Amino acid sequence: MKVGFIGLGAMGAPMAGHVAGKGLLSVVGNRTVEKATRFAAEHGVNAATSAADFADCDVVLLCVSLDDDVRENVEALAGVLKTGAVVVDHSTVSVDTARWAAQRLAEAGIGFLDAPVSGGVEGARNGKLSIMVGGDAAHLERARPALEAYAARIAHMGGSGAGQATKAVNQVLVAGINEAVCEGLALGEKLGLDPEVLLPTLGAGAAGNWFLDKRGATMLRSEFAPGFKCAHMLKDLRIVQGMAKDAGIRHTAIDQALADYAELTDRGDGDADTSALIQLKRQPTSA
Ligand code: NAP
Repeated sequence: MKVGFIGLGAMGAPMAGHVAGKGLLSVVGNRTVEKATRFAAEHGVNAATSAADFADCDVVLLCVSLDDDVRENVEALAGVLKTGAVVVDHSTVSVDTARWAAQRLAEAGIGFLDAPVSGGVEGARNGKLSIMVGGDAAHLERARPALEAYAARIAHMGGSGAGQATKAVNQVLVAGINEAVCEGLALGEKLGLDPEVLLPTLGAGAAGNWFLDKRGATMLRSEFAPGFKCAHMLKDLRIVQGMAKDAGIRHTAIDQALADYAELTDRGDGDADTSALIQLKRQPTSA
């Protein structure tokens, strides 16, 4: 099997590294080409300068930023991949983009899976991501050996778009947990509680969670290296808010988180980790 990987960012680079480790990776691409050249030299694979360099891949994995980035790559790959190849998108984008991509590639006889991931950069580095897949089961079986390189769990959630729908639910939980952890730890600071004792005490009880465990200590030191960028969380919440409105549920948690990440992004923290939210929680609400 020949695998290509496009998008060598915080998530994509370690994921592609695992595929290379299994001996499946053939070629990598990235918007800033130097990143691909560097990665290719380190891992003994080829660096792509255009979509044509992916032409003989059986599976192409994407982990880019936005809906438009996915659409641009899918459009380019539709023109070069062979019949029977499968494109797997690990970016977090809308259900509409996933369905459009599946349709666009099907016209060229190419499979598509929307397969967003959860588990953070730690999960990507450790090869322990939860992968939420939408699309055809036969396409998943074809791509599975590549996905297994970095998966703790691969769940086939249904047809096209079901992976992104699952990720939308995931992001509601992640955003709500972040709100609670940042607000709670900001309160803990004001109350003068010792973080060395506070963090393990909270973690050992019902309040324990991934974000507290992975980001609690760093946010209390005001270290906000990503991780998961505020701008990406804002993108996700805009998608999720639209879905919640259409579904007719009460979405106050989504609205609050969206307003907070919009404020962080507006003030120049778009590239900071989502734990930078504690900076807003340290201040009284402006009336
Ligand atoms: P990131 O660090 O910003 O990396 C994105 C990478 O994709 C960059 O290397 C970027 O290239 C490349 N890229 C963007 N547009 C491209 C295009 N049109 N063609 C080729 N390459 C392109 O982001 P990330 O944190 O890895 O996240 C990637 C995706 O996974 C996002 O959709 C995000 O929401 C999702 N996600 C992130 C996390 C997390 O914890 N970070 C967890 C789960 C899901 P440049 O070098 O030119 O910028």
